[in-house]
Amino acid sequence: MYTRPSPLGKSLDSFSRFLAAFRRFILKDDMARLVLKFGGTSVGDLERIKAVAVRVKAEVEAGNEIAVVVSAMSGVTNRLVGYVEEISPLYDAREYDVVVSSGEQVTSGLLALALQELGIKARSWQGWQIPVHTDSAHAKARIISIEGGDLIDSMKLGEVVIVPGFQGVAPDGRVSTLGRGGSDTSAVGLAAALEADRCDIYTDVEGIYTADPRIVARAHKLDKVTYEEMLEMASVGAKVLQTRAVEMAMKHAVRLQVLSSFTNKPGTLVVDEDEVVEHELVSGIAYSRDEAKITLVKVADRPGVAARIFGPLADASVNVDMIVQNVSDDGKATDLTFTVTRSDLERAVDILKKNKDDLGYQDLASDSDVVKVSVIGVGMRSHAGVAQRMFKSLADEGINIQVISTSEIKVSVLIAEEYTERAVRALHTVYGLDAK
Ligand code: ADP
Ligand code: ASP
Ligand code: MG
Repeated sequence: MYTRPSPLGKSLDSFSRFLAAFRRFILKDDMARLVLKFGGTSVGDLERIKAVAVRVKAEVEAGNEIAVVVSAMSGVTNRLVGYVEEISPLYDAREYDVVVSSGEQVTSGLLALALQELGIKARSWQGWQIPVHTDSAHAKARIISIEGGDLIDSMKLGEVVIVPGFQGVAPDGRVSTLGRGGSDTSAVGLAAALEADRCDIYTDVEGIYTADPRIVARAHKLDKVTYEEMLEMASVGAKVLQTRAVEMAMKHAVRLQVLSSFTNKPGTLVVDEDEVVEHELVSGIAYSRDEAKITLVKVADRPGVAARIFGPLADASVNVDMIVQNVSDDGKATDLTFTVTRSDLERAVDILKKNKDDLGYQDLASDSDVVKVSVIGVGMRSHAGVAQRMFKSLADEGINIQVISTSEIKVSVLIAEEYTERAVRALHTVYGLDAK
């Protein structure tokens, strides 16, 4: 990820490495290189941006080298997406990226100005100036590499570098964005490229909790969580971190902390499994409302039919998640139920209807009033009965399970959306996660 700095950068680099070593070993100074990321609420208005500047100033004065990644001010990205959809429902993703990436650009400049007002040297670096190279999947691009050399040179000169999250540059030279929540991934990518000592993700809650604290009042903050658990939690809906950010942190061994920009308390560290001394059976409950269910009734039960159903969906980039197949009433055909993300539902139904004759099913039903609830924990590897406890607890609440899926450290069920809060709270209690 990290590409070499220019020759001048190199000599600066060796001199400052010497300086850093001198400070660390002779002066016993624990200077560090940190990436600090501030989410939408943390930079929600000018007062909040000034508060972030004060926090950054304190880190600089403690002798640390600081790179800051910022999100758009809260609500801005939603508004920009709204503009795009209103003017062009089937928008060109390259122009979408031009519009939605602008929110982060504004915040980066404002924070640089706020720091300058405090007497701190700071400048903003747009994605294309660094550059942050991505692939060409506009609106959901992946980072390919980040050239950290110029930023390192700038930090060595005592400047705070401020990077707008979420944005990069595609191979054709056009602006790209990383998908919603993508500033987390920008921050982790930058921490890997800059070989930072830690990446701090500042947000509006005090860390990673056993469940979304906004719906489970008794959720408690975890001191540590493993990369693997966080990866599962993020991928099943805990949007406190973007899934790709966790993937990248795990791959590049980035030390990651999630903490609040509103308090001064330590947050949650995301760590390797061997750093957690005692594993709880279940460490978290997550839910995702971004689900929709499709049932194909009486599909002819013959080899190759599943491939014929899911092939065209995959070709149209529709992701299928949970799948269940049942023999239908008469035993001759099969009913097939599966889930897709809500935004893909219309497209998926359209494709299946177009292929009805070829697929040979009798009826198609769809439902978007569903939610996926998951329990996650590495302790599940060595203990049986976790799923059974989940099913019993939902049955006791009178909640019907529509589809089930499992992995080594996770059990997910699909239920009616109206039961979301009830199910998450009940499971939180059953696995002993309620705050004491
Ligand atoms: P930011 O704008 O800082 O990126 P996000 O809204 O993306 O913030 O993520 C923080 C939110 O994630 C919290 O406000 C919280 O409601 C939600 N969340 C969901 N699950 C969890 C969890 N297990 N722990 C903490 N927060 C969670
Ligand atoms: N502003 C972008 C979003 O709202 C990226 C981010 O905040 O992480 O999705
Ligand atoms: Mg976020």
